[in-house]
Amino acid sequence: MFVDIAKIHLKAGNGGNGAVSFHREKYVAAGGPDGGDGGRGGDIIFKVDDNLSTLADFRYKRKYTAEDGQKGGASRCTGKSAPHLVISVPRGTLVKETETGRIIADLSDDEPQVIAKGGNGGWGNMHFATATRQIPRFAKNGNPGEELDVTLELKLLADVGLIGFPNVGKSTLISVVSEAKPNIANYHFTTLTPVLGVVKMGEGSSFVMADIPGLIEGASEGIGLGHEFLRHVERCRMLLHVIDASGSEGRDPIDDFEKINTELEKFSSELKGRPQIVVANKCDLCDEEQIESLRKHFENSGYKFFPIMAPICEGTKELIDCVAATLAKLPEIKKYEAEPKPHIDYTVKKKRTFNIRAYDGVFFVEDAPWLMDVMNTVDPDDYESLQYFERVLRSSGIIDALRAAGVQEGDTVSVYDVEFEYVP
Ligand code: GDP
Ligand code: MG
Repeated sequence: MFVDIAKIHLKAGNGGNGAVSFHREKYVAAGGPDGGDGGRGGDIIFKVDDNLSTLADFRYKRKYTAEDGQKGGASRCTGKSAPHLVISVPRGTLVKETETGRIIADLSDDEPQVIAKGGNGGWGNMHFATATRQIPRFAKNGNPGEELDVTLELKLLADVGLIGFPNVGKSTLISVVSEAKPNIANYHFTTLTPVLGVVKMGEGSSFVMADIPGLIEGASEGIGLGHEFLRHVERCRMLLHVIDASGSEGRDPIDDFEKINTELEKFSSELKGRPQIVVANKCDLCDEEQIESLRKHFENSGYKFFPIMAPICEGTKELIDCVAATLAKLPEIKKYEAEPKPHIDYTVKKKRTFNIRAYDGVFFVEDAPWLMDVMNTVDPDDYESLQYFERVLRSSGIIDALRAAGVQEGDTVSVYDVEFEYVP
């Protein structure tokens, strides 16, 4: 089955915790702190693999977790950093943040892209020795790795897209002008998987053509009008709109053409504006007059018009030459730019904001998420560690604010899940 959209969960590795350790050696009374840093958590990296053509693998495995960094060791040993987790995707895969729809990356070239960053390791206690704090009994925890839900969306990379009703001869056309071998059959709904073919022009020049399941073709599979497949023509630089000139199935080719264009426009107005060439196939089944009247209609509407008989390559050379000439004047295949993360105001974070709320004799320090990070590293059983905590309370203005709120010696101060007595 062709899968071109998938939702997965990514969790990059956490950084390893820093170590608390003291130098020990025979005959050396009291060594200094030598706890090493934690290792970095593994990143989650995406890269293109041209052996893949669908996102089917992601239907079965939806959670991807990179390993955590190891914790620091004694003797200033840094913990081992975790390996990166590399995920292979087909060329043309867009990675979007599921929550916002923001484009994180377009995997259409060979450059691997980091999608979720591993956390840095925490500092070991060797970093926390100062002249007045010679026995730091605390270290920093590693930072968590990034965690996010992403939606993968395959948008094929092709210069030219074939569009048109089922059975008009799209698959036949691509099979005679390129090496692609799609299913060709005299019934509808044969093409449910997009097929890419390279059309060689000689002298090393070539372009990529995509046979895309037609609108309405997917209808029997319960995929509506097949709009989903239009995703794959979005990047195409131009479109070949194939019609059955003979109306061999009892429909009117001009009517078909209008219907398909209406659907294109519904999907995206940008797509509607893409250059189109009209390819009138099955000319063996109609007379000269019919062809000339179609030619007149389409040329008057400003389209280039090519009558062909795809199975015997009649008219295809002229068509392909015109496509190549048109492509030469068109911009490159669309690449999606990564959209920036929504702005986070780091100055607010730096300001170390908080609120004090006095309730029933207890002073609550609230709205200070930054303080959680500090508290995670504080060991309440360690004097040095507590002194460090107190300094943070002082330097951030919390102590002053508590005083202003009327705190007295012996009152209880509650900071998240830690409570202590106020000592002036
Ligand atoms: P698609 O659904 O648009 O991909 O159409 P296909 O390429 O599968 O062709 C549908 C049917 O039309 C097949 O039986 C083809 O053999 C036939 N066909 C394709 N091109 C021509 C043509 O120029 N003349 C005639 N008579 N039949 C054609
Ligand atoms: Mg087909």
